[in-house]
Amino acid sequence: MFEREYDSPMYRAALAQLDETARRLNLAPDLHERLRHPKRAFVVSVPTAMDDGTTKVFHGYRVQHNLTLGPCKGGLRYHEEVNLGEVAALAMWMSWKCALMGLPYGGAKGGVAVRPWELSTIELENLTRRYTTEIAPFIGPDIDIPAPDMGTDEQTMAWMMDTYSMLQGYSVQGVVTSKPILLGGSLFRREATGRGAAYIFERACKTWGWNPAEMTAVVQGFGNVGSVLTESLDELGTKVIAVGDRSGAVYKDGGLDIPGLLAHTRDNAGLVKGFPGGDAIPSEDLLLLPCDVLAPAALGSVITEKNVGRIQCKVVLECANGPTSPEADAVLKENGIVVLPDVLVNGGGVTVSYFEWVQDTEHFFWEVEEVDARLRKIMTRAFDECKNLAQEKGVSMRFAALMLGVSRVAEAKRLRGLYP
Ligand code: GLU
Repeated sequence: MFEREYDSPMYRAALAQLDETARRLNLAPDLHERLRHPKRAFVVSVPTAMDDGTTKVFHGYRVQHNLTLGPCKGGLRYHEEVNLGEVAALAMWMSWKCALMGLPYGGAKGGVAVRPWELSTIELENLTRRYTTEIAPFIGPDIDIPAPDMGTDEQTMAWMMDTYSMLQGYSVQGVVTSKPILLGGSLFRREATGRGAAYIFERACKTWGWNPAEMTAVVQGFGNVGSVLTESLDELGTKVIAVGDRSGAVYKDGGLDIPGLLAHTRDNAGLVKGFPGGDAIPSEDLLLLPCDVLAPAALGSVITEKNVGRIQCKVVLECANGPTSPEADAVLKENGIVVLPDVLVNGGGVTVSYFEWVQDTEHFFWEVEEVDARLRKIMTRAFDECKNLAQEKGVSMRFAALMLGVSRVAEAKRLRGLYP
């Protein structure tokens, strides 16, 4: 009955994954049942003063899936399609991701249903401050620590940190991560998700004998994650033949000039549209291009029953959260396409968020080399653990990653027992 509140395609997909993982783990039914329900969920109204003098009310959400291993952690998403079910699914995936990465956190996620690109900077600030005020009683460095996700960035985190701090009466750096460096942010946090995904790809190449310099890649999404991944792939010698974002997509057979593309997006509000170094192609075609590595780095549910039969890559590097539906996942497996799953591939972001929170707690900040080296070590260890389990149990990398994440949270719940 409780599921009704969260019912949505994404929550159904997250539950289907959990149920299948529990079956493979032979998980005790009571523990399985406890993992299927978020611990808490908040729905808040966010009245926002608009530039034209009117007040608009947006809907905001924060879902805390579990706090078993520590405070819960997860991003805040601004997107028109955000709803409670989607946020609940994303919160559940954060639980498995944090546990897989070995971080002392539970999973959470937040969102506001809004088209952020249609709001002015002042309106976005008003929205963020009011949302933060509404959820302030339920967040904090020892409770729940937000971070950016789609549609939010370092500036959003600075406003959240300021609002929360003003309510407390002193500066609370550890309440959010991915803040500007000056406010207690960590070096290398901005690059962490894209770089982390590249470290997983590098480890896969080394493990399975692929030569990255002989491979081609297509990247969907050119925000913080997609752009850094594209740059990292270029450094590895992988030819990025197409990229796209909400403004459009661009393709070049012999490989795009990546430094040129990055310069173009810097001068063009971050958007790839109009890049002269390639042919404009319809955004829907991006995922269907023949290539070695396909990296969805934007929205969820983009590889579905509708298009999976026409996907022509060898490897899917899931940088977005939940880009592949469970049905499509099974078809990719049948078609011999290797899927490197989201909870592993994009785990670099929350890993450096953890480093940031540790630095804020200690008031002692690390050099970029230290952050990067620790990130690479954790990504490599997580990849190896997934690969070993996948081999041992004869399962896909997705189920190996989920089995590791879910079993750790379940075991922590078993050890702590049921209160009261
Ligand atoms: N939003 C990112 C994710 O989905 C980062 C979360 C965080 O740093 O807390 O993993």
